[in-house]
Amino acid sequence: MYCPTCWNTDTKVLDSRITEDGKSIKRRRECLNCSNRFNTFEKYEKVSLMIEKTLGKMEEYNEEKLYGSILKAFNKRWVSVKIIDNVMFHIEQKLVNKRKITSREIWEYVLEELKKIDEVAYIRYASVYYDFQNGNDYVAFIKKEFGK
Ligand SMILES: [Zn+2]
Repeated sequence: MYCPTCWNTDTKVLDSRITEDGKSIKRRRECLNCSNRFNTFEKYEKVSLMIEKTLGKMEEYNEEKLYGSILKAFNKRWVSVKIIDNVMFHIEQKLVNKRKITSREIWEYVLEELKKIDEVAYIRYASVYYDFQNGNDYVAFIKKEFGK
C-alpha cells in the first residue's frame, strides 16, 4: 500500500477495526517515511461464478438473491442479521474458489448452515428447494432428519 503523500510503500498499522456492516476492515496506517497517517479498507473478494440450474440452464451467481432466500427462511424467527451474515460468509467461503457449481450444491451448503442454527428455517428452506408437495413430504423429511 503506497503512502498517498510520498508514495513510500513501508507503512505501519496503528489500528484495525471491522466496519459497522461487518463486511470490511478499516485500518489506520502511518507512513514510515513521512509519518503521514491515512486509512485503508479491505473487503472480502466478491464471489463470481456460474450456477448450473436444473435442465442445464446457466445463471450468474447473485449474492443478493441467495441472501434474500436465506432471509425468507428466517422470517419471524428472531435471528439477528449478524447470524444471517455469518451464514452467508460461510457459504461464500465455499464458493470463492469455484468457477461453476450446480444450484443443488448451493442448496446443500445453505441447508448445512441452517441446520446448525434453526430447525424451522432449515425445514422451510428444504421445503422450497426440494419442492415438498404436501404434509407427508414434511413428515418424511422431519423423520429422516430428526428421527422424530
Ligand atoms: Zn509518506
